[in-house]
Amino acid sequence: MNPDRMRPLNDREPRSGPVIYWMQRDHRVRDNWALHYAQRRALSAGTPLHVVFILAPRFLGAKVPHYRFMLRGLQQVAEALNELEIGFHLLSGTPEATLPAFCQAIEAGLLVSDFSPLRGCRAWREAVAERIDIPHHEVDAHNVMPPWIASPKREYAARTLRPKLRRILGDWRTPVPAVQRMPSPSTTGSTEVDWGGLVDSLQCEDPGAPIALVEPGERAAYAAMEAFLEDGLSEYDRLRNDPNESGQSGLSPYLHFGHLGPGELVERVLAMGEAGLAVDAFLEEVLVRRELAENFCHYEPHYDRVDAFPDWAKKTLAAHAQDPREYLYTRGQLEAAQTHDPLWNAAQRQLVVTGKIHGYLRMYWAKKILEWTNSPATAMRIAIDFNDGYSFDGRDPNGYAGIAWSIGGVHDRAFAERPIFGKIRYMSVQGSRRKFDVDKYVSSMAQLEPFPFDEGNDD
Ligand SMILES: Cc1cc2nc3c(=O)[nH]c(=O)nc-3n(C[C@H](O)[C@H](O)[C@H](O)COP(=O)(O)OP(=O)(O)OC[C@H]3O[C@@H](n4cnc5c(N)ncnc54)[C@H](O)[C@@H]3O)c2cc1C
Repeated sequence: MNPDRMRPLNDREPRSGPVIYWMQRDHRVRDNWALHYAQRRALSAGTPLHVVFILAPRFLGAKVPHYRFMLRGLQQVAEALNELEIGFHLLSGTPEATLPAFCQAIEAGLLVSDFSPLRGCRAWREAVAERIDIPHHEVDAHNVMPPWIASPKREYAARTLRPKLRRILGDWRTPVPAVQRMPSPSTTGSTEVDWGGLVDSLQCEDPGAPIALVEPGERAAYAAMEAFLEDGLSEYDRLRNDPNESGQSGLSPYLHFGHLGPGELVERVLAMGEAGLAVDAFLEEVLVRRELAENFCHYEPHYDRVDAFPDWAKKTLAAHAQDPREYLYTRGQLEAAQTHDPLWNAAQRQLVVTGKIHGYLRMYWAKKILEWTNSPATAMRIAIDFNDGYSFDGRDPNGYAGIAWSIGGVHDRAFAERPIFGKIRYMSVQGSRRKFDVDKYVSSMAQLEPFPFDEGNDD
């Protein structure tokens, strides 16, 4: 492993004792640098290896179906680890209370954790690192190149990050060695988890809970990757912007929950040989845009607020703050897809029922929230709450960057000035009509059931 993928989070003296890998974001056994690193340390010290997951209630607005999706993925991880004589423990509570106690109970010698640039996850890791008396090492298993290596600062746009990624990509293409069976079982074994009971205990549905369109877990994720590489990638540049086609990979829930690692995916695409338009277009998204979003959240503490917008965008939005809005909707009207615009309502319905919006329409969807609410701050809050609360791939740097791009010009440039938006890029239904068959999309979304707001909303 490239040693720069790991960062120590405290300066405690090394101790002998089992190694713990705190799985936070990368819920897989294959292609996982953090697990590989933890195992290598355990094997060289001759100690057992334990993997711990801490179930936190209501993470960033996640709903029951998101938890169910995640737990079914974790069950596969636990089963695969048990076959490799690696203990798996599902704990619940706050990490800063639960993890130090667990480390003490098994007399651990080293804690390894995933990396995430999001505030809550970062605060958990820092609090844990402070409270344990053993070394805590963070390993980025979620990116091809860790954000602290890809760039030392917040980047302005894809055009400024792209050459940096290209320059160092060669140093980060090593495949992750397969996880080995441990020579002796973990002394304390795995904690029994009643997966069925746990999943069933989540049965009480949130209103408007989305239904997952894809099977959760590592096996399904890698199968979906293979299917896309074989059947979808060659048409990606032609079809990805048409919401009536399944031209995108559909891999974002897997990448978000870490059921799929980006390393193997990017490597397989790069290995497809001569760079065609489709390969280039896909790498631009899965490598450049994805790592740009990580860069944004890593270096910008206010990634989910107006403070994160570039100065030109803050100025232009402030200059248009008092512009009259032809349409103003409440959060409730928006959530229930009760606007005058059938295209927006269809995208919102797709989000609420299926937990996703097509990538092209995600931009349109967020920009209209800016147009129809009383301020960019309100628009940011509503867009983030809906995206995090419904999308299977939500609560992710890609979401915060995508919403800040749409509403606040982050990673974008200035365009011709117009009401409300100022110089922020505008999107219209007429523009969408030039790109795809809007009526077809609207009528196919109208079929989606159950839409919990069909009975009406009093807000
Ligand atoms: C308002 C808005 C909100 C968004 N919210 C999310 C979100 O919550 N989670 C999320 O993963 N993506 C988000 N995106 C980015 C993008 O729309 C999705 O990643 C993509 O549509 C997911 O579908 P896919 O996996 O089929 O993508 P594909 O087109 O097949 O792309 C493959 C992968 O590349 C990455 N990718 C693609 N487009 C982008 C992008 N613009 N920025 C960063 N990475 C990208 C994703 O990891 C994606 O899974 C958002 C974009 C906008 C404009």
